[in-house]
Amino acid sequence: MESVRTLIIGAGMSGLATAAFLRDSDYLLLERDSEIGGYCKTVKQDGFVWDYSGHFFHFKHREIADFLHSRMPAQSIRTVEKRSFIEYRGELIDFPFQKNIHQLPKEELVECLVDLYFARMPGAAASPLPESNFEEMLYARFGRGIAEKFLIPYNEKLYACKLSSLDKDAMGRFFPHADLTDIIRNMRTADNASYNATFSYPEGGAVEYVKALASEVKSSQIALDERLESIDLESKVATTSRRKLRYERLVSSAPFNRLLAAAGKLEDPSVWSWNKVLVFNLGFDRKGPERVNWIYYPDRSLCFYRIGFYDNIFDTDRMSLYVEIGYPADGEVDVDAMLVRTLEGLKQVGVVGDHQLVSHHSIVLDPAYVHITQRSMREHARLKGELEQRGVYTLGRYGGWTYCSIEDNVLEARALTERLG
Ligand SMILES: Cc1cc2nc3c(=O)[nH]c(=O)nc-3n(C[C@H](O)[C@H](O)[C@H](O)COP(=O)(O)OP(=O)(O)OC[C@H]3O[C@@H](n4cnc5c(N)ncnc54)[C@H](O)[C@@H]3O)c2cc1C
Repeated sequence: MESVRTLIIGAGMSGLATAAFLRDSDYLLLERDSEIGGYCKTVKQDGFVWDYSGHFFHFKHREIADFLHSRMPAQSIRTVEKRSFIEYRGELIDFPFQKNIHQLPKEELVECLVDLYFARMPGAAASPLPESNFEEMLYARFGRGIAEKFLIPYNEKLYACKLSSLDKDAMGRFFPHADLTDIIRNMRTADNASYNATFSYPEGGAVEYVKALASEVKSSQIALDERLESIDLESKVATTSRRKLRYERLVSSAPFNRLLAAAGKLEDPSVWSWNKVLVFNLGFDRKGPERVNWIYYPDRSLCFYRIGFYDNIFDTDRMSLYVEIGYPADGEVDVDAMLVRTLEGLKQVGVVGDHQLVSHHSIVLDPAYVHITQRSMREHARLKGELEQRGVYTLGRYGGWTYCSIEDNVLEARALTERLG
């Protein structure tokens, strides 16, 4: 039987970063797909450059940006100050909604402000509002107006679940919190800074970051089209779709519930729930709206929750969109019917006029957003600890069953390799 010191599962950003940072060269990277990149792949079609939904890079750590950019010498990379909006009753208002309620019609502004005041001011609410889940947190911190006009419908479309089932911190630092003072102050001087106020993007698409990491990994140590099927935790033997492999330690970026199943430890599948996202990449014959990077749609009658404009990054001359549609994990996806609804919706909101669709592509990301609940956090921490005692480490957005960015994936992989020595 072949053996390897470190067996890495998944050649997305997490698995590649693990291989790139590992000081010991005795490793093998297994990828079930025929290409590396995971969700950071890029599709080039009819002159359009598309990702598996827009994958933008929000670097907080200079050294990670430098590490990647220095390995992309041939790429033109733009850093863009993002312009993002919410379409609300036919008007575009600045994102985040909660800090821009002064852009609403006067009656709705008053409604939001009064609800916010009574939710937030000490002693103003009859008793402190409960915050034991995501939905309650939205009501307690922002009041009914803001919650019901944007935060609830938008997030329900995205997560495709009841928000009361999610933990109150399900979005972690990605949720744009704002208190009453921030909201009032923003009415005079706009400060819509958020974790993604600027983003970097290479001309060749997100996959250029994948290639930068992969330049540190020997291609002979990547096994494509090979799937991890099961793990014998006792004997430290992994069975793949091709062979049996003895490992000393196994690092997995596969979705955590699937890793548990492979290791025979999936005790209660109901702990793990998630949404899937159908992404349409759409290329049109000419330019559409300019000076906008993405738009959020809380309107429940529209099938999509967010769209983004690739063409406004490098100012190219044909509208190039990604459109995101959330589904429950077991939802049926009828791509053709949804494309028709999507195009009708884009016309309804005025993004598409008499444009011709000249190229399109779709992909279903499954899982896309995991549902972070009290149970999932508790069980993840417990089972991750148990697996580590057996030499199995789990990381990444899906291995960590979390909400994170690509930079977080690289940082986590670097920290794990330091721990592994
Ligand atoms: C809609 C959407 C938009 C996003 N936009 C952004 C953004 O703009 N900016 C940002 O920073 N982040 C964004 N993200 C997050 C980003 O996609 C992830 O953080 C990142 O791609 C996760 O990388 P990963 O390597 O952890 O996982 P993945 O990319 O999922 O890679 C895991 C790899 O493991 C492989 N694998 C799984 N099971 C097995 C098995 N049994 N055997 C072998 N191989 C296996 C898979 O094929 C895959 O290649 C977005 C996510 C979504 C869903």
